[in-house]
Amino acid sequence: MPVSHPNPTPLVIYGPASLAYDFGPGHPFTPRRFGPGIDLLRALGATDVVEPAAASAAELATVHRRSFLADIERLSDFPEMGAELAVTDGDTPPFYGMHAAGATVVGGTLHAMEQILAGERLHAFHPGGGLHHAFPARATGFCVFNDVAVAIRRARDDGHRVLYVDVDVHHGDGVEAIFWDDPLVQTVSIHESGLTLFPGTGWVEDRGGEGAEGSAVNIPLERGTSDASWLAVLESVVPAVAAAFRPTILVTLNGSDAHARDPLANLRLTTSAFQRAARLLDETAHQYAGGRWLATGGGGYDVYSAVPRNWAMVWLAQAHRDAPVETPAVWQERWAPDAARWRAGPPPALMLDPEDTAAPEPPAVAAANHATAAAALQHTLHVLAERHGS
Ligand SMILES: [Zn+2]
Repeated sequence: MPVSHPNPTPLVIYGPASLAYDFGPGHPFTPRRFGPGIDLLRALGATDVVEPAAASAAELATVHRRSFLADIERLSDFPEMGAELAVTDGDTPPFYGMHAAGATVVGGTLHAMEQILAGERLHAFHPGGGLHHAFPARATGFCVFNDVAVAIRRARDDGHRVLYVDVDVHHGDGVEAIFWDDPLVQTVSIHESGLTLFPGTGWVEDRGGEGAEGSAVNIPLERGTSDASWLAVLESVVPAVAAAFRPTILVTLNGSDAHARDPLANLRLTTSAFQRAARLLDETAHQYAGGRWLATGGGGYDVYSAVPRNWAMVWLAQAHRDAPVETPAVWQERWAPDAARWRAGPPPALMLDPEDTAAPEPPAVAAANHATAAAALQHTLHVLAERHGS
């Protein structure tokens, strides 16, 4: 029975179990990010932190094929069978305990979703969640099981209309594919173009399956995009799609890898853009979705600078608090030695990057991005207006 006054404190999903999702030394998707990331949230005031527990086989099977789950279970015990079973790509190597680690990510996102569906919380954030590249029978792009898709499926089973906004620098291909034919799950992915970045998909023309045309929105951006046009795209697309689709819950993937310092991608954002994005998503949840907002952390490979500050911006937006000018001194001191050991540059003193962090984007980049967003939006708004008769 939903309570009438949800707990206003955002729920954070994290615990020692989160660290088990680990592809090994040298892999860019490292659990080292949780140290500086979660510690910054705690230093800013996050106290409501709950450890994730593994999702059940039945829960995983709402999205994944049983044969695939069995294969991942075998790889958990025998990682050397990776080539033989061929259900993982080269970037997503099998490791001991892979099944339990992946199921725990799903369990965390699902718990956050269930808290929101029960009316216990308005906002929840799972920094270790957001494994958007996992497909029903394929582990790819560092993603074993698709936690976001399992949580969205759960909301759909409760009768919700789900708006999914993915601002990770990579196309949200797995989530989009899983709900391709479902007109009640509206996906929006804003990413670096597949011409220059993994997974090489997510084109403007990809708009959803038969009977669900317009339910996928893809905005592939030019390499070199910085704050100005990225934010202009986000601000033109998200509120317009929300107004037309009328969601009852918002699910987001707030990747940190569109940041200028990210080593794996070619966009040029600063944490100012992340801050504005997080606030826009909060406003969208309150205006269109009864305040219900589940956020996940997704990718991000600049462990001591971009990732912790982006997570902080998401948490602060969910807590309805302003960001401090400086990062806490105790946080900087605690993580400076670790950052030095990994040759990463010191934890930044400022929450917002100085203006010279990112090169200004060439006018041609901005023009192309605006044209892409307009093309994607025009079609979707037209289709949604027809479908809803408004
Ligand atoms: Zn809010």
